[in-house]
Amino acid sequence: MQLRNSGISDTHVLSAIENVPRERFVEETFTEHAWDDTALPIACSQTISQPTVVAWMTWALAVEPRMRVLEIGTGSGYQTAILSRLTRRVYTIERHRELLAQAETRFKELKLNNIVTKYGDGSKGWKEAAPFERIIVTAAAGEIPAILLEQLTPGGVMVLPVGKSVAEQILLKVCKDEAGQVTTQHLMNVRFVPLVEG
Ligand code: SAH
Repeated sequence: MQLRNSGISDTHVLSAIENVPRERFVEETFTEHAWDDTALPIACSQTISQPTVVAWMTWALAVEPRMRVLEIGTGSGYQTAILSRLTRRVYTIERHRELLAQAETRFKELKLNNIVTKYGDGSKGWKEAAPFERIIVTAAAGEIPAILLEQLTPGGVMVLPVGKSVAEQILLKVCKDEAGQVTTQHLMNVRFVPLVEG
């Protein structure tokens, strides 16, 4: 209801969010707060994103049913799980082994079988699986990573937070047209953990 009231009207996005149990993606100590509209701490000093931000990013990504989607920053796997309900295949990369292992267990338990995971540095994208029709980055880079743009199909969309410092982060929607021309749109101010390269 809160998401509906915040202006998200896409029924596919809303029902994907409703069908992913956020309590399964947070630490046990925070179960009571799983449905609060806040980011929460997860292992390795990272955070599971705020539900409203997940909703806006998912909506902005405009995922269609038969797409290949790349996510950088699996974290808890919450955003991954929502995307997996909206499209054919989700490729997700995480640089903390522990987080990735926990997320993989959740995907298995929830029978989300269309997620392909990779341990490593996602700032370089996933060359072997590229190109992707959609790319979502859930950690903030200083600027739009050129390698990720290269791995986006013509007509593709990328949603990512960008900013030199936490205080300056903005969420961008980047569209690449059929001719390869890129346009960016500023969606909102956000706070994400940094995209760590290497
Ligand atoms: N979407 C996640 C948010 C996780 S926070 C969720 O819903 O829970 C961002 C994640 O990005 C962290 O887990 C962090 O370890 C990861 N990350 C940061 N830099 C990365 C990189 N270069 N490659 C892959 N993952 C990265």
